[in-house]
Amino acid sequence: MSAPEAGGQAAGPIPVKTTIFEFMSARAAAAGAINLGQGFPDGAGPESVRAAAARAILEGPHHYPRMRGTDALLAAVAGQYAATQGLAFDPATDIVVTSGATEALAASILALVRPGDGVIVIEPAYDAYAPLVRRAGGVAQFVRLKPPGWRIDRAQLEAAVTPATRLILVNDPVNPTGRMLDADERAAIRDVALAHDLLIVADEVWEEVRPEARAHVSLAADPLLAGRVVKIGSAGKIFQVTGWKVGWACAPAGLAARVAATHQFLTFTTAPALQQAVAQGLETERSWLAGMRAEVAAGRARLADGLAAAGYAVLPSEATWFLSVDLAASGIALDDVAFCTRIVDDHGVAGIPVSAFFEGEGVPTNVVRFCHAKAPATIDAALGRLAKARSALA
Ligand code: PMP
Repeated sequence: MSAPEAGGQAAGPIPVKTTIFEFMSARAAAAGAINLGQGFPDGAGPESVRAAAARAILEGPHHYPRMRGTDALLAAVAGQYAATQGLAFDPATDIVVTSGATEALAASILALVRPGDGVIVIEPAYDAYAPLVRRAGGVAQFVRLKPPGWRIDRAQLEAAVTPATRLILVNDPVNPTGRMLDADERAAIRDVALAHDLLIVADEVWEEVRPEARAHVSLAADPLLAGRVVKIGSAGKIFQVTGWKVGWACAPAGLAARVAATHQFLTFTTAPALQQAVAQGLETERSWLAGMRAEVAAGRARLADGLAAAGYAVLPSEATWFLSVDLAASGIALDDVAFCTRIVDDHGVAGIPVSAFFEGEGVPTNVVRFCHAKAPATIDAALGRLAKARSALA
């Protein structure tokens, strides 16, 4: 019997259970399964970036960098966004380097959400959003999108707003659906934000992972939204180094100062060697990104074609490392959790049930997400197993 927990059972706003990603990765490891669940690629980013990190580990700097980030990385992030998205962030005042996008999200939400504030959370939602809103004392106001289109509907968004609403959390491109928001959806977000004087936290960590190289249009680029948007990015996604946890939040000086004030008491700084390497990558490896996109496109096509050939109904995916299958349309009567449990335990492949990106009752349970950013041999091995799984389960 375990001793009673000091301080009572953890009854706070952060769930005690581990995330679905951690859970499925552990289950995949235990079962010796191919892990197409948690989002990490087989690749490991440009060699020059890894070499820069190794050099900096040996030669330094080793000590606390400035709280907002190294000069080199602040300049590189500003330069990257000016060159690729036409955004004008001042490195001196508008950018805060964080320990991953997760910390940027936490710092932004804790800085901007006051107790009792409503925050619009669009489902399917990245799993950190609602718990962080609650930790800040806010109330998650869910807008639930429907498969297979997963489009944001203006009337639905408008209907979710109450007098308490203060902020909209937007993810674009979207994990888990792989969608890129279109101009109508962005206009709906803008109009609702303007009509109700709302702030926007724009989680754009997947901005460079666009297999078709269709342009990413940041909400921060809309002049009508000036002063309202905190844009969040992640080197983990850009350079395929997810474990490095180097991210940033970019916003007009006043908002950025509030995010920085929160960041200084969360992690204060991020490893200087990794900041140095990411800065160098942003300055010198823009051409690597084009190759990365082509490689991601090839992996996506390989997995999508193979799944379709095995009888799975594959939903369209324009961005991220993910694609989804519709179980019901694939002739599989199991729900997503049951299917993921069966394929990891009996067939040796891990996926993620998309219902994990929702809260409450009546959520979609027919969609499963797979990570396609894997080596051809990994994808082929997974496809062989998934084909057998469909024969067994359909
Ligand atoms: N937001 C979204 C939508 C993500 O998919 C992820 C990573 N999977 C993050 C934030 C977190 O990024 P990081 O690893 O840089 O903390």
